[in-house]
Amino acid sequence: MILKIVQAGDAILRKKAKQLTRTQLAKSETQQLIDLMIATLRDRPGVGLAAPQVGESFQIIIIEDKADYHEKVSEEMLAAQSRKPVALKVIVNPVLTIVSPADKSELYFEGCLSVDGYAAVVPRARAVKVTGWDRHGKPLTVTADGWFARILQHEVNHLNGDLYIDTMISRTFMTEKQYSKEWAKTSPDKLVEFITKAVSPDSMEQTK
Ligand code: ZN
Repeated sequence: MILKIVQAGDAILRKKAKQLTRTQLAKSETQQLIDLMIATLRDRPGVGLAAPQVGESFQIIIIEDKADYHEKVSEEMLAAQSRKPVALKVIVNPVLTIVSPADKSELYFEGCLSVDGYAAVVPRARAVKVTGWDRHGKPLTVTADGWFARILQHEVNHLNGDLYIDTMISRTFMTEKQYSKEWAKTSPDKLVEFITKAVSPDSMEQTK
């Protein structure tokens, strides 16, 4: 069974999700919700999913970035993004801390299963630390950099009612179709040029 993913505009995506107690987490309904979230994420497929995206206002996120998903991205871009496969992780009640200084933010495209069909460049911190519990309530700490850090920031934001469209560089917003056609396989240099031009088209004109 696959769960329905709610879309931007649904009020649940803008609410702060509820923390779980260990008793609530151990309940069969909660464990089943986690299994269904995993099945739903793999069905799309996506690299991350937060419980509010399936209509459940709880602090649960799941992340999985399989090597197969990397075929759509150029080698050069994977290296720049420091994107490596991430085995399935379920994190309950996550608390995120930015590890890298704020001026080290990275600019890459991302999308969201709840803003279906679109993509935009979003600044994210390079490295983060997340503490929380695993699906059995055992404390865990995850340190991540590059793409994994980006996914963690995106998913934890969902639990606070934030979407990537709140912090995206809005002039880079586009349909997923357009992104796949022109930008999915691009090089890091071309992307920087695109962002500069998108943000400040006049300055590019003057240099011509
Ligand atoms: Zn999302």
